[in-house]
Amino acid sequence: MEHSSGEDVRADCGLLEAAELVLDDLDAALARLDSGHYGRCEVCDDPLGGALLEESPLLRRCGRHFERGEP
Ligand SMILES: [Zn+2]
Repeated sequence: MEHSSGEDVRADCGLLEAAELVLDDLDAALARLDSGHYGRCEVCDDPLGGALLEESPLLRRCGRHFERGEP
């Protein structure tokens, strides 16, 4: 990827960061799917519940352990 203007680079960095977070979640979700832990909190192993998963299919943690800290 080539960048000529500093502002474009900054904007792309934000997007990249967001994309990497999603890829990270996707990776983790696929790994859990493989190991049969998909849909469970990675901390306490509680089932996340169908409604929660439907809303955020890449969810890794239950409400108690969710600490992504999104703005
Ligand atoms: Zn939990």
